[in-house]
Amino acid sequence: MENFKIQLFSTSQLGGVLDIGYTAEQSEVVTDLLLLFNAQFDIEKQSIGMDYKHQYTEEFKERLNDFINKYKKILPQIQGLAQKFTKLKPDEWFFTLPPIDLNTKQKYALEKELNQLNGIESEITNSDIESLFSGVMDNYEIVTFDLDKDKKIKIGEGLKNKRVCRFCKLQSPDVSFKKEAHAISEALGNKKLVLNEECDLCNEFFDEYVERDFVFYHDLVRTMFGIKNKENKTPKMKGRNFEFFKDEDKNLNVAIVSVDESGKSQEPPKSVSFNTDNKIRVQNIYKALCKFALSVMGEEFLDYFSDTIDWIRNENVAERLPKIAMLNSYSFFTERPEVTLFFRNNDNYELPFLVVEFRFTYYMYIFIVPFSSKDKVNFLDESEYQTFLNSFNHIRAKGDFSFVDFSENIERELKYTINFEQRETNKSMQPTAKAAAD
Ligand SMILES: [Zn+2]
Repeated sequence: MENFKIQLFSTSQLGGVLDIGYTAEQSEVVTDLLLLFNAQFDIEKQSIGMDYKHQYTEEFKERLNDFINKYKKILPQIQGLAQKFTKLKPDEWFFTLPPIDLNTKQKYALEKELNQLNGIESEITNSDIESLFSGVMDNYEIVTFDLDKDKKIKIGEGLKNKRVCRFCKLQSPDVSFKKEAHAISEALGNKKLVLNEECDLCNEFFDEYVERDFVFYHDLVRTMFGIKNKENKTPKMKGRNFEFFKDEDKNLNVAIVSVDESGKSQEPPKSVSFNTDNKIRVQNIYKALCKFALSVMGEEFLDYFSDTIDWIRNENVAERLPKIAMLNSYSFFTERPEVTLFFRNNDNYELPFLVVEFRFTYYMYIFIVPFSSKDKVNFLDESEYQTFLNSFNHIRAKGDFSFVDFSENIERELKYTINFEQRETNKSMQPTAKAAAD
């Protein structure tokens, strides 16, 4: 007999499945739990009725405390329940649902209902949302990661002797799993998403040949925003003609090697180009993004990406890759990397099977994971790519995305161009930086 479970749902942090470890037959505790949520028992009809809509009122808080006090000795884990609920605002509405997996559309509908109950008005109207996101919601399941939790999120098999590496498919004792492998490079500030199923050899290979280039590419923003690496340090950049670092007062310093021989003081430059001495291959940026996606996805999807894995781990070169939609904006600024996966849930082969949104500092990348066995076209053709964009209408609607080709696989020196912009409001400099390998 399965345990009795209730799923909690709110727009705040309250969420997840509540499992008190009892089956419905072990009636008293389950009955009390149901009473906590105002269930009505009809003995004649042998039925239980419970409204799924609840409010975090003072009265509910009292009932919750009574329930916890009554059972905390035999169910120590329920003490955390009061803490969980404190994330709700007074009188905030939340839902109790059966413990089923909700798809993206269902979640969206429930959130909409909750926002209405809680009187939250969105700046964009519902019809705006429908027109921007319906192409995504009708065709994709969205997977996000709750990185606000304090704990690490460990992906894949916990037991080392049972682990199979996602990338080389080997297991112990042929490969070892001694190092903690980060699903997204630690140098990008990811301390939480850990991949159990990455062997030490693959970890080393990706570090050195794939992720390293991605990290170099973002060195400037890592320095600008003080992103901490493995050693908990923020990088200081030094190239042939510049130095770039944050001082103890967190001021950003740019020292430029002047080539002016006259010694006159000059106006600060509006735009400066820096040579880093670091060499990268642009295709590795695309490989690294795909490596992050393969690291966080559920293992049930891995079989569809054998060719993608082959491409990223064997120094294989793809001749051409789909363009990546890129946006630089302070409006979604995030210090730690965030990743969202969009899996197609139907057989509409005009759309890519997996699309990923990756955000880091003011960079947003939206890309197709190539070479999936679930895809019948490769989205290299302009018309194929446009069909994809039609479905991801929010990319198209925001005119400031650029579509960048990351196919090139020639090792080139990385250069930065920084534009300094004088802001009238606070007179501070808010630099935007672009990296390019050319
Ligand atoms: Zn491996």
